[in-house]
Amino acid sequence: MLSMVSEDRKCQNCNDNFTIDLDDFSFYEKIGVPAPTFCPKCRMIRRMAWRNDMVFHRRTCEHCSKKVISVHAENNGMRIFCNACWWSDDWDSYEYGRDYDFSRPFFEQYNELMREVPVLALMNDNRITSTNCEYTSDCFYSKDCYMTFVVWKQDGVSYSRYGMNSTDCGDCSSVMGGNELVYEGIFVRDCYDCRYIESCTGLTSSSFCYDCRGCSDCFMCIGLRQQQYCFKNEQFTKEHYFKKIEEYQLSTYSGVQRATLDFSEFQHQFPRRANYLVNCVASTGHELANSKNMKECYNIADGENCAYSMHADSPKDSYDFLVAGECEQAYESLTPDNSYRSLGTIFSNKSSYSRYTLHCPTSNNIFGSVSVRKGEYIILNKRYTKEEYEELLPEIIKHMKETGEYGEFMPAQMSFFGYNETMAQEVMPLTKDQAIEKGYNWQGDLVKPLGSTTLPVIDIPNDIIDVSDSVVDEVLECAECKRNYRIVQQELKLYRRMRIPIPRKCFQCRIDRRINVRSLGRLLFRNCGKCEAEVRTPYQKEHVATVWCNDCYKKGFD
Ligand SMILES: [Zn+2]
Ligand SMILES: [Zn+2]
Ligand SMILES: [Zn+2]
Ligand SMILES: [Zn+2]
Repeated sequence: MLSMVSEDRKCQNCNDNFTIDLDDFSFYEKIGVPAPTFCPKCRMIRRMAWRNDMVFHRRTCEHCSKKVISVHAENNGMRIFCNACWWSDDWDSYEYGRDYDFSRPFFEQYNELMREVPVLALMNDNRITSTNCEYTSDCFYSKDCYMTFVVWKQDGVSYSRYGMNSTDCGDCSSVMGGNELVYEGIFVRDCYDCRYIESCTGLTSSSFCYDCRGCSDCFMCIGLRQQQYCFKNEQFTKEHYFKKIEEYQLSTYSGVQRATLDFSEFQHQFPRRANYLVNCVASTGHELANSKNMKECYNIADGENCAYSMHADSPKDSYDFLVAGECEQAYESLTPDNSYRSLGTIFSNKSSYSRYTLHCPTSNNIFGSVSVRKGEYIILNKRYTKEEYEELLPEIIKHMKETGEYGEFMPAQMSFFGYNETMAQEVMPLTKDQAIEKGYNWQGDLVKPLGSTTLPVIDIPNDIIDVSDSVVDEVLECAECKRNYRIVQQELKLYRRMRIPIPRKCFQCRIDRRINVRSLGRLLFRNCGKCEAEVRTPYQKEHVATVWCNDCYKKGFD
């Protein structure tokens, strides 16, 4: 019987105390799992260690021998099939079926199965419902995307993560709800023709803005609502405004540098809202929109009754998920999209009552299985009748409760990814030695391309209008980490169209900057600069002098 009072427990991983409150207990009771043994942060890191949204490897499909891009490195022990082969009827994943062994822990058996059954090289639907989206992961119903991760219905988007229904955007993190021509946007919705903006909604033709809504033609503004022709929150005439914009020469690298510094100084004079929550009720976390009863959640829109979760659209009554769309009663799952009662699943969408499955879409009542499509009453890739399944499953759950496995996500140490190629490294960076000491895998094959530079930084034209077509044949060198990188045709087209200078930093450094700005999953404790209430915020004192709690900020700006 689960406790009916709030309880402090000691995390079995980091030894810190954490609280399990009444709502938590009733959720665990509803879905029939024991209370967790890890604290929320350790649970998040454990899940993140199973998610690679940044590194691609070259592999060969084991079925048709075609060269493919994969999130799985050659040496990680996983067998991979290309999209076409995996979805074909040329093979049968039930051939790998086996009996459950009650003398061994479940995770050990599941781990063996995961390394025997071929899985999808990459999670995207390129050449099925997406076109020209080869270099993408977790990308569906899209067109002409390049180096995009976790996107849905995107067209012409490059170097971005977490996007929906957006067109012609570049270097964005979280572009939701119909954006067009947005460059360097963080958590933006319904914006058009905007550059270098953060936490903005319904903006048009604006640059360097933070927390502005329904504005057009605003430059370096903070917290404005329904304004036009404002510079540094001051009302300008139309003529004066465009003269000001012209002065900055935003089509040049030096102009953008100057604007970045000026805006950062201007931003320092304002209190920052400790957490960015728009239209939210009874919620804690950061970057939440139109949500209700969310606890410690991040980058989620239209959520209800969820906790300890990150990156989602329309999740309901779910805990501890990572990247999800329209899930219900999910727990400890990765991408349980359009699913009901997922537990410990990875990329097993459109499913119900799936427990511990990897790449098992459109399945119901399935347990401990890999690469099974449309499966029902399956245990360790073996078919059962409904009656047999209903008799065996409770025995397995009982066994897993004895081994302490039931309700827990698979250990990070069992992940097929190197810790350094996963999301965990972004939230809790470790050195190789530290990772190995904790028993995590480390991917040694991540070579940073260096030394082939053909166009040094000083020779890149300052103004995008002076950049010639041949720039796509050049090898550039990142001004920050020295990594060699290229400019692709599609990117150049966007830069020219939006009059944006060629970036001097590589894709990885650009994405790292946005990760650091957002600091999702790394909130610190501070006090509201107005009412002194304790708040959890991503902003360190060195970077943001004053934070205000949501209530104080609302009174001041909303
Ligand atoms: Zn912990
Ligand atoms: Zn193939
Ligand atoms: Zn770099
Ligand atoms: Zn306050």
